[in-house]
Amino acid sequence: MAEEWDVDVLVVGAGPGGGNAALQCARKGLRTMIIEDHDEIGTPVHCGECISDEAIANLKLDLPEEVISKRVNGIRVIFPDGTSKQLTETGYVLEKHLFEQWIADSAVKEGAKLALKHKLTSMERLENNGTFVGWKCDGKGEMFPIRSKIVIDASGVAAVCSKFVKPDGSKPLNEKGKVVAGMQYEMAEVPTDDYLDFYIWPKYAEKGYLWMIPKCDGRANVGLVTEDRPRAKKALDQFIEDTHFSDLSQQLPPWKTKGNPAFGGTIPISGPFENTHYDGLMLIGDAAGFTSPLFEGGSHLALKSAVFAAETAATAISNGDVAAKSLEDYTLLWKAEFPPYEKILRGKNALFELSDGEMSLMGSCFPDEMGDMGITGKAMVGLRLLFRRPGLYLKNIVPAMLAFGYSRAKYYGW
Ligand SMILES: Cc1cc2nc3c(=O)[nH]c(=O)nc-3n(C[C@H](O)[C@H](O)[C@H](O)COP(=O)(O)OP(=O)(O)OC[C@H]3O[C@@H](n4cnc5c(N)ncnc54)[C@H](O)[C@@H]3O)c2cc1C
Repeated sequence: MAEEWDVDVLVVGAGPGGGNAALQCARKGLRTMIIEDHDEIGTPVHCGECISDEAIANLKLDLPEEVISKRVNGIRVIFPDGTSKQLTETGYVLEKHLFEQWIADSAVKEGAKLALKHKLTSMERLENNGTFVGWKCDGKGEMFPIRSKIVIDASGVAAVCSKFVKPDGSKPLNEKGKVVAGMQYEMAEVPTDDYLDFYIWPKYAEKGYLWMIPKCDGRANVGLVTEDRPRAKKALDQFIEDTHFSDLSQQLPPWKTKGNPAFGGTIPISGPFENTHYDGLMLIGDAAGFTSPLFEGGSHLALKSAVFAAETAATAISNGDVAAKSLEDYTLLWKAEFPPYEKILRGKNALFELSDGEMSLMGSCFPDEMGDMGITGKAMVGLRLLFRRPGLYLKNIVPAMLAFGYSRAKYYGW
């Protein structure tokens, strides 16, 4: 049967997760193909485009200049009454489409095949004498059908393989999760001191937040994520109208030549899927539900889960066994590394149970620089709160405060 295989690994989707999965697989000598539904990689951009230095170091990426839009100093969190606190940890704002193109190009240079305008629409299980051996993947695009021993689903929020694969013949591998809407504009001549501004203002962004992410030449992404999906655009427009952004102009981002200046997408918020591996299949990035709960960053998690999937694929293929049991290391690896989703989610939910006033009070108890709080700093915050509003302890303020800590780069926050 060996001569019938087109590739060892088929990667579905060329976002950051898929690009890096293809790169890592190709580097390990696996015969790799990456397919992408769109005719170009990275567009339309559906990202605020920031990534921390911690992530770049963790992933051992040597970013070329052209993918970097701006160096940034960290995040400023702005509470509903305007109280602001800084979290200094350096990073980059990318030209994300160029970043994704660079990763995919690197994969191709390492020997991966890239097929644009290829959309996966079905998967058929292949067995040899009752033993699972791989997948026959079909879809729209001239390279189909593609026979692969392993499929890495990096299809983002679409999570297509979770739908196509039905272990018991009827129910999909994973239930569809919840999503939030993210939307932004590129604005011009935006004042900045090189911090990302994150506004926790539930009036506009229900259980979400708004941002100003500065880019080069005075450009900035101004946007929001919100659980109130139908109102996302209206709420963002209202926020801009009510704030200093009202004096600034919107423009088309460089990758967009016509149409509405707003751009964005959806972000999974149900947490990691129940099954992130199966026979000959691993789910990575958004397709596995990996996002950071409070600020919804997902690029670092997508890029890192790609590394784990490639490692696991290489071992399984060299052992000649790609059934689910051989791929379980993938799930063990990400579970050992990624922060506890449920715990952070509890914190996020506790945060959004607070009134605007309570959130602002909590914010005012944080030190001006949240980056180096340490144990004494945290104890001071606790004491300030106890002194000013002891009743807040009954409202789960502690998990709410911890959710901020877990949004740091070292916990894959960005
Ligand atoms: C408005 C917004 C702002 C965000 N800001 C940030 C941020 O600043 N920092 C951060 O870290 N994260 C941010 N995120 C989240 C981040 O964009 C995602 O977590 C990240 O892109 C996930 O990468 P991925 O490779 O898993 O999926 P994606 O980047 O979504 O890539 C999936 C790819 O698969 C392709 N595809 C889908 N279906 C098929 C199919 N059937 N066949 C072939 N190809 C297919 C898609 O076309 C796409 O190219 C933001 C998200 C949104 C919506």
